[in-house]
Amino acid sequence: RHGRRDARRARLRGRQQARDDHISYVDSLPSGQEKGLFYALDLGGTNFRVLRVQLGGKEGRVVKQECDEISIPAHLMTGTSQVKLFHSQFCTLSDQWITMSHVMFFFQELFDFIAAALAKFVASEGEDFHLLEGRQRELGFTFSFPVKQSSIASGTLIKWTKGFSIDETVGADVVAELSSALDRQGLDMKVTALVNDTIGTLAGGRYDDNDVVAAVILGTGTNAAYVERANAIPKWHGLLPKSGDMVINMEWGNFRSSHLPLTEFDQALDAESLNPGEQIYEKLISGMYLGEIVRRVLLKMTEEASLFGDDIPPKLKIPFILRTPHMSMMHHDTSPDLRTVGAKLKDVLGIQGTSLKTRRLVVDVCDIVAKRGARLAAAGIHGVLKKLGRDIPGSDKHRTVIAMDGGLYEHYTIFSETLENTLREMLGEEVSSSVVIKLANDGSGIGAALLAAAHSQYLEAEV
Ligand code: BGC
Ligand code: MG
Repeated sequence: RHGRRDARRARLRGRQQARDDHISYVDSLPSGQEKGLFYALDLGGTNFRVLRVQLGGKEGRVVKQECDEISIPAHLMTGTSQVKLFHSQFCTLSDQWITMSHVMFFFQELFDFIAAALAKFVASEGEDFHLLEGRQRELGFTFSFPVKQSSIASGTLIKWTKGFSIDETVGADVVAELSSALDRQGLDMKVTALVNDTIGTLAGGRYDDNDVVAAVILGTGTNAAYVERANAIPKWHGLLPKSGDMVINMEWGNFRSSHLPLTEFDQALDAESLNPGEQIYEKLISGMYLGEIVRRVLLKMTEEASLFGDDIPPKLKIPFILRTPHMSMMHHDTSPDLRTVGAKLKDVLGIQGTSLKTRRLVVDVCDIVAKRGARLAAAGIHGVLKKLGRDIPGSDKHRTVIAMDGGLYEHYTIFSETLENTLREMLGEEVSSSVVIKLANDGSGIGAALLAAAHSQYLEAEV
């Protein structure tokens, strides 16, 4: 009996550790009635995007939309930690170089840069877009990091992920930061919705397709969101929303469990990362890390079995030099002599004259790492479907649609095919025939604009 009690305790403990989900304050998804001109801003990867959309209500839907993608200069994305990492690699600056004020300056600079781009975007607006007389422009802000929301349009940063690192900004109110940057630009715009990219993708997905029940991101990072009954959420102490629903941002990237085995490569990657002990599931799955895991395995094979000859190629020792897109290109090489593998090894890692046998080994490593990630991601999706009761045959005649976004899923074919096969394997043929994964290309932009519309300050006046 003791054994059983201990097992139960361990299970509960596991569950406690695994809970990292966040209430989004989104209690209804777009209805299709949304009307007017709205903006969205998407920050969370290497690029950020601005978008404007003219919504025409039930008949017009999306009348016109325009979008602009701008890459963020690398020096604006990093604060203390990464600069320190930079030091240890290139060692020219003193450790004291970055002070608190510099870091704050970086953060302000990042938001100023974004606000300036937004101001330019607004200034370039054509006549197809019109704001009603006397109204303030309204914006949905997609901020793809863990945030503790305090309302639909406010929240504080819990931590950075995905290589962003500006430590002293943790706890900052992201909407307040953006709003003052907009003021500094003289741009009269109000943030009416602050959303995670999963929430934006869910909203945009639902606008397109009524059967969307969850959203998943597989890109630089990974995460998922789904619609929950509000009265089933222990953390929810507010009024029961009219819909009875609440969208949950799972932050599943931070999942970890004793049932999730980590190799020595995963452990070393985590220990040397900017966020040790955090985002363990993400570090096994997402685009930021897959190539880096492969590099670590290849390095070990070189050190212990002279994979690339007796000397260790110096570039193979540089963290993050092998990006997931490189890995994907090698993995998809179908030429008989694995020409692309040879070329990537040469161009990216400076390794010349590899034999076919060596190239095959490299492809094997890519295969193992990519398929492990894809199968783990499929297990996550299966968990969500289980939670929603959509994993049982005949339980529901519904289609079940998952809105998916992210470059890893979109571009890494072996990854996405493995994910789909694994999900089918877990659900069985009957259930999986009604489950659809739908690529919602940048659905989060439209989704954020729709949520900005749904929470417009002018809504009451219209009713
Ligand atoms: C962040 C999430 C985000 C995901 C996908 C993760 O690193 O913690 O908030 O949704 O990346 O962009
Ligand atoms: Mg994105």
